[in-house]
Amino acid sequence: MAMQEQAVSWAQEGLEIGFVPTMGALHAGHDALVARARKDNQRVIVSVFVNPRQFGPAEDFAHYPRPFEADHDRLDRLSVDAIFHPALEQIYPPAFKTTVDPGPLGEMLEGKSRPGHFAGVLTVVLKLFSITQPRRAYFGQKDFQQVVLVRQLVRDFALPVRVVTVPTVREEDGLAMSSRNVYLGAEERRVAPTIHRALLEAVAAFKAGQRDPTQLELAARRVLQGAPRLELDYLSVVDDVTLSTPEQVRPGHVLAVAVKLGATRLIDNVVFGADPA
Ligand code: AMP
Repeated sequence: MAMQEQAVSWAQEGLEIGFVPTMGALHAGHDALVARARKDNQRVIVSVFVNPRQFGPAEDFAHYPRPFEADHDRLDRLSVDAIFHPALEQIYPPAFKTTVDPGPLGEMLEGKSRPGHFAGVLTVVLKLFSITQPRRAYFGQKDFQQVVLVRQLVRDFALPVRVVTVPTVREEDGLAMSSRNVYLGAEERRVAPTIHRALLEAVAAFKAGQRDPTQLELAARRVLQGAPRLELDYLSVVDDVTLSTPEQVRPGHVLAVAVKLGATRLIDNVVFGADPA
């Protein structure tokens, strides 16, 4: 049965569907999303689709890892009910014309460095929601701005989906798991945990009573300075809904960072006042 018919039929039987969209190259971060979906729902659908529309022309779409057999085995072990692995033309047939415009929040932070990225993300998410009919959809905190924009999409279009955010899963040394970590050379991999250490430095300052966003950014920035091959793109304390800079930082606000480590772009964030960071 085609994915959409299967999903509609499950929904008609009253079975709640949890949906986990991914681009494959699965790791323990994805596992955590699936595990949470498994816990909350009677059926779990995972999509594996490297969405060309969320990559810029100079980005890594062509080289993005696509280990589909390993992904398939991994998802089998997690006992998902369906893997949706569409062909490009199934999502974007030649006649496809509509794009979701994310509005101003799509142009900040990641959007500034990656024009069109969130239009690509929201367009594919809307289509995938329509195909998989989820009661709940699962997204990682690591891609914090993505969660903010998906929540906005759900609100603006009154989609009958609950968005669930899952905490960032990290390597033992603190590096946020990412399909892109395989790009890192040995020296870059050694430097990469500095990103999380920098975020933790700001968390420590917040815990010690610092509430000035500039000072918190500075605490993190100091740690990043001098890390070899690491080039800062942005490091900003932002409101978790509006993405604007707060005057006074309060629990729930986010310190978001993007760096280039050699040729690889990595993002991470921490939520102030949340445990663990
Ligand atoms: P991706 O395959 O990178 O597009 O990611 C698919 C989903 O997994 C997104 O919702 C990501 O935010 C989430 N994700 C990626 N890395 C992690 C991580 N380290 N911890 C938790 N969720 C993650």
